[in-house]
Amino acid sequence: MDYDVIIIGAGPGGIFSAYELCLNAPQLKIAVFEAGHALHERKCPIDGKKVRSCVNCKICSIMSGFGGAGAFSDGKHNITNDFGGSLHEYIGKERALELMHYVDGITLKFGGEGTKLYSTAGTKFKKECIQHGLHLLDASVRHLGTDINYRVLENLYAFLQDKAEIRFDSPVDTVSAVEGRYEILSGGKKYTCTKCIISVGRSGSKWMEQVCKQLGIVTRSNRVDIGVRVELPAEVFSHITDELYESKIVYCTQKYGDLVRTFCMNPRGAVVTENTNGIITVNGHSYEDPARHTENTNFALLVAKHFSEPFKDSNGYGESVARLSNMLGGGVIVQRFGDLVRGRRSTPARIEDSFITPTLKATPGDLSLVLPKRILDDIIEMIYALDKIAPGTANDDTLLYGVEVKFYNMEVDVDNNLESCHRGLYIIGDGSGITHSLTHASASGVYVARNILGAMQ
Ligand SMILES: Cc1cc2nc3c(=O)[nH]c(=O)nc-3n(C[C@H](O)[C@H](O)[C@H](O)COP(=O)(O)OP(=O)(O)OC[C@H]3O[C@@H](n4cnc5c(N)ncnc54)[C@H](O)[C@@H]3O)c2cc1C
Repeated sequence: MDYDVIIIGAGPGGIFSAYELCLNAPQLKIAVFEAGHALHERKCPIDGKKVRSCVNCKICSIMSGFGGAGAFSDGKHNITNDFGGSLHEYIGKERALELMHYVDGITLKFGGEGTKLYSTAGTKFKKECIQHGLHLLDASVRHLGTDINYRVLENLYAFLQDKAEIRFDSPVDTVSAVEGRYEILSGGKKYTCTKCIISVGRSGSKWMEQVCKQLGIVTRSNRVDIGVRVELPAEVFSHITDELYESKIVYCTQKYGDLVRTFCMNPRGAVVTENTNGIITVNGHSYEDPARHTENTNFALLVAKHFSEPFKDSNGYGESVARLSNMLGGGVIVQRFGDLVRGRRSTPARIEDSFITPTLKATPGDLSLVLPKRILDDIIEMIYALDKIAPGTANDDTLLYGVEVKFYNMEVDVDNNLESCHRGLYIIGDGSGITHSLTHASASGVYVARNILGAMQ
C-alpha cells in the first residue's frame, strides 16, 4: 500500500512515465491506477449490427483502459512543436523535440518497426497552399495505424507488467497531500506514495478539476474546437496524403478573420463516434493494413473558441453544441455538402443516391440547425479554399458529420518541471491541458520520470 511512485492513468502519459522509471530504476516500487480495463478487455459494444450507437457504458472502452484514449486511434504520432500541445512552452522546443524522437524510438522498438515516417520538409504542397491562402504546418508524422498502435501497446504492457503494479478497473477517488507525501483513495482503500504523477487525460477532466479545487491548484480555462468531420473519395486528397499522410492546413477566413484548420486526416479510413462523458461526437481513424482500407478519406475541420470573461466555460459551450446534435440526430448527424449550401436537410434517400458511401451510420439531417452560423460559415469557406488544392472537396456529395468537438482540459498551473505547487505532485498529458496528442503526452511522461529520477539521485 506504500509506493515510491503512484501513477494515475495508463494512457500514453502514464505508460511512458512508468516505462522510463522502470527502465532506469527497477528498484522503485511503482503502482499505476487505471479506471478502465486491461487492453484485451477493452471492447466497445457498438458492432454495427445489434448495437448501432453508443449505449453509454459506465467506463467507455474507447477512451479508458490501458493505452488511454489513443488505444484504438489511428496512431498518428506527430513529431512537431507546431501542434499537439504546448509542452515546448514549459520545457523548451529542443528538449520537447528530443523527447518526441525518443518516444518514437521506443515505439519502433516495441512493434512499430517498418512503419513510415512522413515529413512536410521540402514538400511542393507548401507553396501550392500559400498560393491559395492556405498554410501547411511543419511536422513529421509516423503513421502506425490502429492495428500496429495496438501491437505496440501490447508489447509495452508485456514489458511493464512484472515491473510495476498495474491495477485496472481502479479509478482513484481522491488525492490528498499529507505531510509531504500523497494519499490516494481507490475502491475504499488507502495507498500512499512519495511522488505522484497524475495523467488522467480528457476522460478524467471533471475529476481533475475537482482534485485541483481540493488541493488549491490554480486552473485556467482552455479553448474548445468545434467543427465537422469531412468524408470524401480518397482520390480527392490522394496526391497530398500519399506524400504527407496527414496535412495540418490552416486558413484564415475572409468573412470573419477566423482560423479554420484541418485535423486528424485518415486516408482510406473510417469515421467513428466518440463518447466523452456521455456526449456523442465524431472522430476518425484508419488501419495500416491495406486489407482494412476503405474507399474514403476523412478529416476534421475545426474552429477554435476560447471564452474567458464573463463566461469562462469553453468546454461547456462545446458540450451544448454537441448535445444539440445528439438531441436532433440521436447521436451524430450527416449532411451532404450540396444539401448544406442549398439550405436543405439531407435525407436517407439523398445519402443513398450519392456517389460516396458513408463509413459511419449517422442520422441524415441539417447541420445548420446545430452549428453556430459563424462556425458554419467558416467551415464552408474553408471547404471552398481546400477545393483549390484538392479539387472535388466542394462536390455536392462530400459528407459532413457533426459535430466534431475537441475538448481541452483546463490548463493546470504547473512549473517547468510539470510539478504542481505541491512538491512531488506532477500533472502531465492531456489531463494537464498542456498536451493534446499521443507524442506530446508520452513525451511529458518521460520528462517527469527523468525529473523524478534526477531528484532521487
Ligand atoms: C478516437 C481518438 C483518436 C485519436 N487519434 C489520435 C492520433 O491519431 N494522434 C494523436 O496524436 N492523438 C490522437 N488522439 C488523442 C490522443 O489519444 C490523446 O492526446 C492521448 O491519448 C493523451 O494521453 P494521456 O495519457 O494524456 O491521456 P489518456 O490517453 O486520455 O489516458 C488517461 C487515462 O487515465 C484514466 N483515468 C481517468 N481518470 C482516472 C482516475 N480518476 N483514476 C484512474 N484512472 C483514470 C483513463 O481511463 C485513461 O485511460 C485521439 C483520441 C481519440 C479519442
